[in-house]
Formats: sequence, C-alpha cells, structure tokens
Amino acid sequence: AQEVHKKMSLRASVTSALFLDNVRVPDANRLPGVKGLKGPLGCLTQARYGITWGPIGAAIACFSETTEYAKNRMLFQRPLAATQAVQLKLADMARRITLAQLLSLQLGRLKDAGTMQPTQVSLAKWNNCRMAIDIARECRDILGGAGITTEHSPIRHALNLESVITYEGTETVHQLVVGREITGINAF
Ligand SMILES: Cc1cc2nc3c(=O)[nH]c(=O)nc-3n(C[C@H](O)[C@H](O)[C@H](O)COP(=O)(O)OP(=O)(O)OC[C@H]3O[C@@H](n4cnc5c(N)ncnc54)[C@H](O)[C@@H]3O)c2cc1C
Repeated sequence: AQEVHKKMSLRASVTSALFLDNVRVPDANRLPGVKGLKGPLGCLTQARYGITWGPIGAAIACFSETTEYAKNRMLFQRPLAATQAVQLKLADMARRITLAQLLSLQLGRLKDAGTMQPTQVSLAKWNNCRMAIDIARECRDILGGAGITTEHSPIRHALNLESVITYEGTETVHQLVVGREITGINAF
C-alpha cells in the first residue's frame, strides 16, 4: 500500500494506492457463481446505491447549520434569513434535498424488489453528489467569511464531497452511462 499524503479531502481517513502482486486467491474465497469482472462490478453497483444516501446527509447538515446561522446573523438590524435572496436559496436547497431523498427511497424500493438497474444507480449517484456539493458551496457562501473556517461544516463537507463525486465512478462517467442508456451508443 502506498499512502496518499497531502489530501485536502477525506482527511480523517487513510487513502492508499493498493498493489496486488503475485496474489493467489484460494478457491474457497471465490465469488460464487461469477465469471469475469461482472461479479465484482455488480458489488460496486450495490455499494453505489449506499453512496447515494451519504451526500443527502451532508447536504442536510449544511442546510440546517446555514439556516440557523442566517436566522441569527444580524445585518443592518435584521436577520440575514429575512432577505428574499437567502430564503430563495434555502427553499431551493430544501427542494433539491427532498428530490434526492425521493430518488434514493425509490431506488431502495427497486433494490428490495430485485429490479434496480445499474443505470438508475448511476443517475442517482450523479444527481445526489451534484446536489450536495452545490448546496455545500452555496451554504459556505451564505456563511460569508465565517464559512471558510472549520468552525462551520459546509466547507468541510464541500471538500469531502470532492472525493465522493470522484470515487465509485466520476460524475462524467455516470453521465456517460446515462447517455449510453438513452442513445444506445457507448461514448467511452
Ligand atoms: C478518497 C478516494 C477514495 C477512493 N477509494 C477507492 C476505493 O476504495 N476503491 C477503488 O477502487 N477506487 C477508489 N478510489 C479511486 C476512484 O474510484 C478513482 O479516482 C476514480 O474512478 C477516477 O479515476 P482516476 O482517478 O484514475 O481518474 P481518471 O480516470 O484519470 O479520470 C480523470 C478525469 O477524466 C474523466 N474521464 C475519464 N474517462 C473519460 C471519458 N471516457 N470521457 C470523458 N471524461 C473521462 C473523469 O471523469 C475525470 O474527471 C478512490 C478515490 C479517492 C479520491
């Protein structure tokens, strides 16, 4: 394992490049009933479903903290939350968070029914990561200068979401998966 240093994202966990050289896997440890890469890649689809929920939590944390901040931050004798611009932003965040929740909930229902398709997971992973990273950055902005410190969570969530939008398939690759489903043409 080669540890990756100087990370600006997911700093609380160790990230490493892993090299597997001359590894022999005992027959007993083989994935049952699987040929080729399809089996391991199928596991990733299931893991990715779980990942669709994580960004929702990050977005809610940013949204809640920023709402409280805006209600308490006084600017020119009125709370920041009393401005229409901030209320429009918060309302739009609530809309996007709710849509992401419904997307993951429906995906869970399809998973329970055994009919969840990899492309549906791609769409949800792409949507929910994009939703959360956008909201984290908008929350950071509403917090003003205070938002750049570790005293508030949005900048930490935004930086961590840079990893989440990249791992388990980058946003671009998930977009291409959806594009392939729509057109029937593999563009990557
Ligand atoms: C914190 C962290 C943890 C990780 N954990 C794991 C893990 O546990 N297991 C694991 O296997 N991997 C893990 N990864 C690796 C992660 O899955 C890869 O970083 C990711 O798949 C992108 O691959 P890459 O870094 O090689 O980028 P590249 O493949 O070099 O891609 C670079 C850019 O080019 C774009 N791109 C690539 N191909 C195309 C194309 N055909 N058309 C258009 N654009 C394209 C990508 O979207 C990206 O924006 C982790 C990464 C991070 C940052």
